Amino acid sequence: MPGYEPFLLCDFHIHTRWSDGQLGVAEVVDLYGKTGKFDVIAITDHILMDSDWLARAGRLATLGRRRFGVRKDDFAAYLADIKQEAARALEQYGMLVVAGAEVTQNCLRGKGKKNSHIIALDITQYISADQPARSILQEIRRQGALSIACHPHHRRAPRRLEISTCYLWDHRDDLSDLVDVWEAANRDDLFSVTSLKHFPYVANSDFHKAKHLYSWKTLLRCEKNWPEIKKALRSNVDVALTLFRNGSWAA
Ligand code: ZN
Ligand code: ZN
Repeated sequence: MPGYEPFLLCDFHIHTRWSDGQLGVAEVVDLYGKTGKFDVIAITDHILMDSDWLARAGRLATLGRRRFGVRKDDFAAYLADIKQEAARALEQYGMLVVAGAEVTQNCLRGKGKKNSHIIALDITQYISADQPARSILQEIRRQGALSIACHPHHRRAPRRLEISTCYLWDHRDDLSDLVDVWEAANRDDLFSVTSLKHFPYVANSDFHKAKHLYSWKTLLRCEKNWPEIKKALRSNVDVALTLFRNGSWAA
């Protein structure tokens, strides 16, 4: 009955070995699928800036063995891998897999406040991270994809080598029309945002390794197909944040 569909358990933020995740797309599908609980997941590997400092340091540290972002040249193969696994996931587990990417800006110095990590869901073409956040959001709209402002409240702790990703939140007056959904919870963190109710939100795992399966997730009430899920994310009426646990809170 319309309006009384069962809630779908969703995770819209997952990294694989196409960027800095530990598992391949097939392994991710099996990990989520075998729980028998998930309805929708999105593969959202990083697209990095050409000058990304963290990726450069990481490649040096791992002697080039690990990749940290999907490159433009690989993008068609990346989408094809997801498409193939999506067909299997639907048949084997009844689970919908959406192709996405996290367009990632990491500036460690000076321009630290200018970082944004933006997920594009149902992306069809590569989007460069080397352009202003507004242009990234406009390109997502142009593709008919859906944008998520990732961990928009993460601010750098003093003296720690990490990045702030609060650019979109700090510029929400200018940019919120272009942001479809805000990530109100990411992995173990629930952001305390006073004006949360004024924005559409989701909760995601930011999955990089198997233990990240147990983290914040989203429940959506709609039919299990991408057009309806997209509509439900945008309207954000029947939505809930839920903590998916490993049997016990003490685990
Ligand atoms: Zn991120
Ligand atoms: Zn991420």
